[in-house]
Amino acid sequence: MITFYPGPSKIYPQIAGYLQDAVEEGILSQNHRSPAFMDMLKSSIDLFKQKLNIPDNYNVYFTSSATECWEVIAQSFSAKGSLHIYNGAFGQKWFEYSQKIVGDNTFDIPFDFEASIPVLETDTSKYDVLCVTQNETSNGTQVNLNHIPSDEALIAFDVTSSIGGIALDWTKGDIWLASVQKCLGLPAGLGIMICSPKAIRQAEIIGERKHYNSFLFIHQNFEKFQTHYTPNVLAIYLLKRVMEQVENIELISKKIKARNLDFCQFIERETVWQLLIDNEAVRSDTVIAVGGVGDAIKLVKQKTREAEITLGNGYGNWKDTTFRIANFPAIEDWEFEALKTCLV
Ligand SMILES: *Cc1c(COP(=O)(O)O)cnc(C)c1O
Repeated sequence: MITFYPGPSKIYPQIAGYLQDAVEEGILSQNHRSPAFMDMLKSSIDLFKQKLNIPDNYNVYFTSSATECWEVIAQSFSAKGSLHIYNGAFGQKWFEYSQKIVGDNTFDIPFDFEASIPVLETDTSKYDVLCVTQNETSNGTQVNLNHIPSDEALIAFDVTSSIGGIALDWTKGDIWLASVQKCLGLPAGLGIMICSPKAIRQAEIIGERKHYNSFLFIHQNFEKFQTHYTPNVLAIYLLKRVMEQVENIELISKKIKARNLDFCQFIERETVWQLLIDNEAVRSDTVIAVGGVGDAIKLVKQKTREAEITLGNGYGNWKDTTFRIANFPAIEDWEFEALKTCLV
């Protein structure tokens, strides 16, 4: 079976062997304060930083999901408030979750999905964190990191559907959040948070310690290569194995961008379909939304189903008029060729 679902998405086929290895190596029966676990956690993080070119002075933490990271940011980094600039459903959801925790000091600036992110004069006396969904999975757009000016406030990026797929300039942000079931080609159940020294300093000044997942507890545990709760040991192990296997992100990024261009040109030139996003400058490299009219979507879903290919459904307002294609590294070129034959 072939799947282009943008999360949970296709896992690397090598995972089958890694699962077997995890059982045989005995790591799953080790407790999470044992040296064996701590060594494994350390090497998982080291490899992750190495393959993704994450600066040495940035810290990597594991949580249970990207959604949990939204809450951690609201709890532990947003003493004054947070500002959310978004153009789609995930950015809006992040805003709404923050609002439940931070209350009235949560501000939002929605923008059009065909437009570049607005660069605004904002008032940093009102918020500590600027929250941006770098890759909006719902509509297939992405924010160019060069369009975000540096800010006195912390800059937080949701990169759930781009991390591991495209190279990111980590120096542009202070808090990066994600999960593993999209571009990283792993089973769901592990969230990732990456923090700059500035973010850690800010959390220490705020000093919030009211929750089991208060950032300072997470940080203190990870300093010892432990976790603030009993972790998903298997997922951390699988991440380590996948990081051993994959190429450096610069190489992966080149391939993903080239395949995106190839597929978008194919859609525009050789099919009756249209790309949902006209503006090439804001189109995502890793999630492609394709639109059609009338019954076309229903018919193509039937055709792909017969070919044992799963498309991603359209999201929210675009449920019946679009489908989405994950352009994630675990998906192979031949699978894209098979998809193309169903779209002409
Ligand atoms: C999938 C997704 C999430 C949610 O991830 P979970 O691991 O399910 O919490 C958040 N943000 C974006 C942009 C996503 O694509």
